[in-house]
Amino acid sequence: MWKKKRGNLPISKLLELPTTREARLWSDLGGNRVQCLTCERRCIIPEGKTGFCETRMNIDGVLYVLTYGDISSISNNPMEKKPFFHFLPGKYALTIGSWSCNFKCPWCQNWEISMFSPLDTAPNYMAPQRFISIMKRINTHATSFSFNEPLVSFFEYSLDVMPLAKKQGYFNTYVTNGYMTEEALDLLIKHGLDAACVNIKACPGTHEKWTNGAKVEYVWRNVKIMLEKKIHVELVTLVIPGVNDSEKCLRYIARQIKDDLGDFVPWHLTRYFEAYRAREYGLPPNTPIETLRKAYKIAKEEGLKWVYLGNVWDPQYESTFCPNCGKLLIARYIYDIIVHIDEPRCPHCGELIPIILLRSDGKVIDWRST
Ligand code: SF4
Repeated sequence: MWKKKRGNLPISKLLELPTTREARLWSDLGGNRVQCLTCERRCIIPEGKTGFCETRMNIDGVLYVLTYGDISSISNNPMEKKPFFHFLPGKYALTIGSWSCNFKCPWCQNWEISMFSPLDTAPNYMAPQRFISIMKRINTHATSFSFNEPLVSFFEYSLDVMPLAKKQGYFNTYVTNGYMTEEALDLLIKHGLDAACVNIKACPGTHEKWTNGAKVEYVWRNVKIMLEKKIHVELVTLVIPGVNDSEKCLRYIARQIKDDLGDFVPWHLTRYFEAYRAREYGLPPNTPIETLRKAYKIAKEEGLKWVYLGNVWDPQYESTFCPNCGKLLIARYIYDIIVHIDEPRCPHCGELIPIILLRSDGKVIDWRST
């Protein structure tokens, strides 16, 4: 058990911690400067400093991650909480988070962990094998790297955990802002990533404005690669008045999904509540439900088939209906879920439903293999 904050430790002690590991993706720029290649910020980091997210530090010309297996939060959550509505509906994922983020959105809904530097916390290490042993003792079906941005804190850890989880028959999932480099994404896929819930925060320009210059184009690129590599993807947009609730912005996102990815990709429009520094930036206390309904209508007008509203608690907008005959396929009310299908087809009209099911007999039914 470690009690001291990492930032107060001498470098020799920091290097001895099990949560400090050499980073997987970086390059030596000479003169003791390194470049981190984990996310598209591609930080150039001088000796003794950390990158933008503060999870990665240059020590003597080598880049280290400071949060390997460093758990700030853990819980066994319904898939619907990610949210995944078309991936193992009704099943669970053992979900972990750590510290920090590579974005600094002033409305962050998880700011208690994502806006903390690991240097200001004491490490709380869980070995990959221990994580798997917990999974075996509970009713769960997948890993979920989530809560804060998992790429910056758990990239290396997830590369170790995911193959172990796969061997035991579990699925692997990420909840992410999608800002990884292509190299990082390639490694995640090769190490067993099955599904990703990706945040589309806003349209070009607006996205950069609120995320310290991060370009949403990289997020779209990564989502496209994920789909090409058969990763199940669901998209989420936290709809915030004055940030991304204009008709123009919502239509742009809907068109990108339809034209660039395909109308089979689910889009979750979720309700925002004031958090972190939102008030300082003049943002309102929450998103009116009417705004969410308008966003839903826009998405439908643009031809998207799988649109859901989050944090609205209305079964009409949370449940899955057949887009052809309108019959109820999966009933949802918050986390009460009744799955009425065990094949990826509507039992009433035969319409193909883009969904991956885990049946009670343990069989995985994937719509892409039908
Ligand atoms: S992971 Fe962190 S250190 Fe690396 S490029 Fe991204 S923000 Fe910079």
